[in-house]
Amino acid sequence: MSTFRILLTPGDGIGPEVIEEAVKVLGAVEKRFGHEFRYEEETIGGAAIDRYGVALRPETVAAARQSQAVLFGAVGGPKWDDPRAAVRPEDAILGLRKQLGLFANLRPVRVHPAMIDQSTLKSGVLGGTDMVVIRELTGGLYFGKPKRRWENASGRQAVDTLRYSEKEVARVMHVAFQLARGRRKKVTSVDKANVLRTGQMWREVAIEVGRQYPDIELEHILVDACAMYLIRRPASFDVIVTENMFGDILTDEAAMLAGSMGMMPSASLGRRRKDGTGIGLYEPIHGSAPDIVGQRKANPLATILSAAMMLRLSLGLEAEAAAIEAAVDAVIRDGYRTPDIEGPGARPADTAKMGSLVAERLGA
Ligand code: NAD
Repeated sequence: MSTFRILLTPGDGIGPEVIEEAVKVLGAVEKRFGHEFRYEEETIGGAAIDRYGVALRPETVAAARQSQAVLFGAVGGPKWDDPRAAVRPEDAILGLRKQLGLFANLRPVRVHPAMIDQSTLKSGVLGGTDMVVIRELTGGLYFGKPKRRWENASGRQAVDTLRYSEKEVARVMHVAFQLARGRRKKVTSVDKANVLRTGQMWREVAIEVGRQYPDIELEHILVDACAMYLIRRPASFDVIVTENMFGDILTDEAAMLAGSMGMMPSASLGRRRKDGTGIGLYEPIHGSAPDIVGQRKANPLATILSAAMMLRLSLGLEAEAAAIEAAVDAVIRDGYRTPDIEGPGARPADTAKMGSLVAERLGA
């Protein structure tokens, strides 16, 4: 029997509700495949501010380092929303990413055939869409120095700095090429090489790293064109890789292709071992949804699919990950829907029922 160590950080709002369902599904994986998942649980976000005065304790970081992966719910809520507060719930996610050296954020975007009509795009355009968008997380305009505001005789001035080192670009490129190997073998590198020096270097490094992966097709697209192609021919993309700010914008655009936020998982990854695994943080892309907390309306599928990514990318359990994804597909195909994705003829399911249905389909 293989044993794996996982840190659970449910957080605030619907975080604990959706994490509970992911653990239920992981329980079915344990039974079917004969593994043991050992969990530790840490309080983070607003709940940790109330209890400890900080959103992320050093003890939580230490527990994360002792684990093979972190399964994160969501943080935040009206109680802690004051932008001038000295401590904020999102310090938890930013702190964990930083302390664990997580530099690549992955968002898969897959349009389920049974849900294609939920999207704002026409089904003819969307059919076959199945991509992963990788955003560089630690460099670029959001972190470059100088970063400041000042005033002089001509009025208010401000500066942010877009800076990358070739090492930062190369390591995220490797994540993209390695991921493409297990998929349709195509990487689209997105930059603004026609205007920005960082974009020119980004493209050079992409080409250099690409030479180490001769089996993978590499294309370059300018970010403005990419924004357009995402809604014109989304099925043509396999793995997209881009810098921090472009990724911030394009991942939200890409997420909308799939319809609901309640269905969208994500992963933040750092250095990988030779076998492609390494510590990662896995979370739904949605927030803590304070408007539906405690009402059994939360869709747990984004968190369940994040757990599947965790099995694949941090624990090296590909068959188990694919089994969860197939079980989710089966539940959707059978017409079960939480309120956020309901449509004509849907079979209503609450949070716990959705989790149980996926666990049942796993054959436990
Ligand atoms: P949100 O994602 O929490 O909710 C937006 C809308 O989507 C709401 O109507 C909500 O009910 C719905 N929704 C979200 N997840 C759902 C799910 N799983 N099932 C069904 N419906 C779902 O975004 P928001 O309202 O802008 O933010 C609420 C709080 O969450 C804020 O405090 C914000 O700072 C925080 N937030 C946290 C994260 C994170 O933890 N990573 C991300 C985004 C927002």
